[in-house]
Amino acid sequence: MDDDIVSTDRLTKRYGDRAAADRVSLTVRRGEVYGFLGPNGAGKTTTLRMLLGLVEPSGGSALVHGLPPGSPGALRRTGSLIEGPGFYPYLSGLENLRVVARYRGLGRREAEEALERVDLAERGKDRFRTYSLGMKQRLGVAAALMGRPDLLVLDEPTNGLDPAGMASMRRLIQDLSGDGQTVLLSSHLLAEVQQCCHRVGVIVDGRMSFEGTVADLRGARVLQVGAEPAERAAPIVKGAARAEVEQARDEDGRTVLTTEASGVDVPAMVRELVADGVDVHSVAVRERSLEDVFLTMTEAQR
Ligand code: ATP
Repeated sequence: MDDDIVSTDRLTKRYGDRAAADRVSLTVRRGEVYGFLGPNGAGKTTTLRMLLGLVEPSGGSALVHGLPPGSPGALRRTGSLIEGPGFYPYLSGLENLRVVARYRGLGRREAEEALERVDLAERGKDRFRTYSLGMKQRLGVAAALMGRPDLLVLDEPTNGLDPAGMASMRRLIQDLSGDGQTVLLSSHLLAEVQQCCHRVGVIVDGRMSFEGTVADLRGARVLQVGAEPAERAAPIVKGAARAEVEQARDEDGRTVLTTEASGVDVPAMVRELVADGVDVHSVAVRERSLEDVFLTMTEAQR
């Protein structure tokens, strides 16, 4: 499809008899921020390296801008930050970017523009070694942005950053996306992906276990009812939700019933519970936490 900037079909990388990436199929569409999510060692970096032509696949195929990964045409339109930026500590941020620009045959203005785009212009004349980790990462993004690539590939761009640095990197990614930049980023942090990505691919043990929107990943919202006695409350909640009910206890030892929230007439259910002599302590509708979803997915694959 024209709108797919990246598409892979059962892309595989084996090291010995172990598959670091095992038949990975994913698509990144033009203009989106795609979060490639997975725990440490899941195969994210290996996959991204294959997309940049840095690692030779053992099987399957991939297209980047409709071209083979690593081909000059694909590389010209792709900027990347993978496994930390390599900069000269005693040169300023701006000088470092100028070195990169010269190396890539780009004009001098590119370095200044990139610095402005990542909001580092004011510190551009300071030496790289005086930068905070967050600033170093931003400079890495600036280097990736030079030459105005259609696609930005960022491997764990917030790794090692404090909360303020993470928030600032997220804002930068959102700003770039607002300008129409397509971004493929990897992360092991659910909350982060949830906050800045349009679509998500989840990889566990080298295999893709999900691809879709964050809302799809979370699935339906849940209804939680704190009610006693449980044996009277459960059938009523089950009837109202027309779905299975799970029982657990909250920190005060009270029963909490959890079920699907969609289509439940909550006031009618509460009236029924009360009419049946059930004590209702709490009623809440909430989204499933991504943490829960992710853990379920990880366990399902083990
Ligand atoms: P992290 O978040 O920790 O960087 P990741 O999802 O990026 O993890 P990869 O770096 O792609 O994971 O690694 C996936 C698996 O492949 C790991 O088990 C790793 O040890 C293995 N692996 C990666 N590169 C090599 C290599 N050059 N030789 C042998 N095994 C490798």
